[in-house]
Amino acid sequence: MSKIAVYPGSFDPVTNGHLDIIVRGCSIFEKVVVGVLENPDKKNGLFSIEERVELLKRSTKGMEQVEIVGFRGLLVDFVKEQHAEVILKGLRAVTDFEYEIQMAQMNKKLSPHIETLFMMTDNEYSFLSSSFVKQVAQYGGDLSEFVPEAILWDVVAKSRKGK
Ligand code: ADP
Repeated sequence: MSKIAVYPGSFDPVTNGHLDIIVRGCSIFEKVVVGVLENPDKKNGLFSIEERVELLKRSTKGMEQVEIVGFRGLLVDFVKEQHAEVILKGLRAVTDFEYEIQMAQMNKKLSPHIETLFMMTDNEYSFLSSSFVKQVAQYGGDLSEFVPEAILWDVVAKSRKGK
């Protein structure tokens, strides 16, 4: 049994909700590989793939079980490349559920021995998403409760530049 989990997402930018899943993932798995998707569909992205990887690296500094890796293409192929057998996902509300179950079932069809594991969001972060962070940032709101301190100013600066 592999003790490696892949936690995939866009992380544009990483939030405290993402970080919570990474930290809790580390208490279950020996290693958590955060897979940062180079998503060509997301045209309204704030940060480039290189920037998103860098922000995640900074936010998880000192966490020895965590590795941050960018990827493109099929998630199941990336999971195999990483010698992992588990896809770790965070679930916020029922609105996440329908889409996530479809993806989990599709991935199961593509690769039957890769399991998708869902972790419930902490109450504190159930409302939090990267798009919400981007909206608050755009209008100059206080982000300190929503994103890791190590990247706060990058998000503020980038949102100002985009105006
Ligand atoms: P978002 O949905 O915020 O734009 P991503 O697409 O990068 O973020 O999400 C990556 C993973 O993190 C997904 O499994 C998503 O369900 C999960 N996730 C996102 N925000 C939270 C949160 N606040 N709490 C728990 N899991 C979350």
